Amino acid sequence: MSVVNTVQDDRQLLIEHRSVENPTVYYIQRLSNFREQTSLAVRLVTAAFRQKVFKKENTLLIIGGGVSGAAAGLEASQRGMIVTLFESKRTLLSVQQRCKTRYLHPYEYYWPLAHYQKRTFPFTDIDKKYSPRPMRWSAGVASDIAKKLADQILKEKSPNLSFRLGVKHIPVSQKTLLEDFDSDGDYQFILVCAGARERTGFPNLAFASFPYWENDPLEKLCSRYADGSRRKEQILLSGGGDGGLQDLLRIVTKPTRRKPFAAGQILEKLLPTLRRNREFNRWLKSKQFDGNCYRPFDVKPMLKDFEDLLNSMEADFDYWRSLSRMLLSWIHPAILKGDVRIRLAFKEKHFSRSFALNVFLVRLLERIIKNQQLLLPGHEIHLVNTATKTHQCKGDPKDCFTSPHFVSWKISGARSPKKEAYDVVVLRHGSDQQFTNAQRKREKP
Ligand SMILES: Cc1cc2nc3c(=O)[nH]c(=O)nc-3n(C[C@H](O)[C@H](O)[C@H](O)COP(=O)(O)OP(=O)(O)OC[C@H]3O[C@@H](n4cnc5c(N)ncnc54)[C@H](O)[C@@H]3O)c2cc1C
Repeated sequence: MSVVNTVQDDRQLLIEHRSVENPTVYYIQRLSNFREQTSLAVRLVTAAFRQKVFKKENTLLIIGGGVSGAAAGLEASQRGMIVTLFESKRTLLSVQQRCKTRYLHPYEYYWPLAHYQKRTFPFTDIDKKYSPRPMRWSAGVASDIAKKLADQILKEKSPNLSFRLGVKHIPVSQKTLLEDFDSDGDYQFILVCAGARERTGFPNLAFASFPYWENDPLEKLCSRYADGSRRKEQILLSGGGDGGLQDLLRIVTKPTRRKPFAAGQILEKLLPTLRRNREFNRWLKSKQFDGNCYRPFDVKPMLKDFEDLLNSMEADFDYWRSLSRMLLSWIHPAILKGDVRIRLAFKEKHFSRSFALNVFLVRLLERIIKNQQLLLPGHEIHLVNTATKTHQCKGDPKDCFTSPHFVSWKISGARSPKKEAYDVVVLRHGSDQQFTNAQRKREKP
């Protein structure tokens, strides 16, 4: 990369994340993933130093002790700033520390790139360059990783980084930041790393669904039907981004050896069979070292590629039969028997927020399951606009679980003829990044 480009990239990065009203306030509120969030935080601090905005011994207040706040704090303090990090919860990385039901992997969602199996972060040169020393982790259960990282950070941080955990939630609007923090006073710079709000409800739905990083019972849902004594259950899974696709896979497949669910493990088990197919091998070879493939989330070519690829695989009848047999053996018997029925509701464009691995596995399973007519007919593209709760739950997903919810939706503008009852409603509508986007739009280079 040329010097000119680096300077331009640095400037651009600073502009994108800086407040217009107050140039000493910066924001990281995009929610991508652990790995990218770490690198973004470090790149932002590095750029501010290279542009001589941040200097040694300047004071910096960071609001939010998630992965991006922690990474930014480590980097800035390492470079000599005096950093104080405020976190409203009692621990660092609190969002993931609670969650035992999700698996975190630094690279598996970068499939089909060849390094998708690397379990240890940092692996790529760019990650090595933009990750502070204590941010080393290996794939595993989210809560274990978050705890380990929090301990490492506390142990290895430099003395000029201090944490104030369990502080009162700090309002982070422009107005309050300007009023409460004076750049001539305690802190010369403020970096807001407060995350983005997850969208967990429909406007008229008191039911809150399960937040993404909460311990939820989705993987065990099908096991409850093992003895056949329960009545049939219907599940509405709304949202076709990564959250929705991952939860669909979690519900439908039998528990893997590595718990909780890990998409990479399913792929590993599938690969020997997939590789027996010439078309699949040709496709994989063409993508494995193409760093730009399907990025940034170029949904149309990806969906078209998968459609073509699966068509050509399906055309080989014997091969497809053996692949189907294998996949069917991984699908939970309650799904195969029709005791649990799922309606996945999504707009096609929701796939744009999904990594290739989730999309590929869901598209594959969808074909296999559809051939068996196991899902509700016409399940695949629905836009749920409204959902109402008619029973008396208090909005807590745990209390509300398996009590029927009555849902209506629109398909291409037409309302569903009548409300349908769903025992479990899972909303995976991503996060609300409007605030962040508004920040980005305001200033041009
Ligand atoms: C549906 C969904 C699925 C995801 N799946 C994955 C995945 O599989 N793998 C992956 O790597 N990533 C995934 N992510 C992204 C991951 O959650 C984020 O990348 C990561 O949590 C972002 O870290 P952060 O530090 O920016 O924000 P957060 O993790 O949200 O941390 C923000 C912190 O700030 C604190 N805080 C907020 N406001 C204040 C305030 N006013 N005062 C003081 N403290 C405050 C909060 O308590 C919190 O600890 C997913 C996200 C979503 C929404």
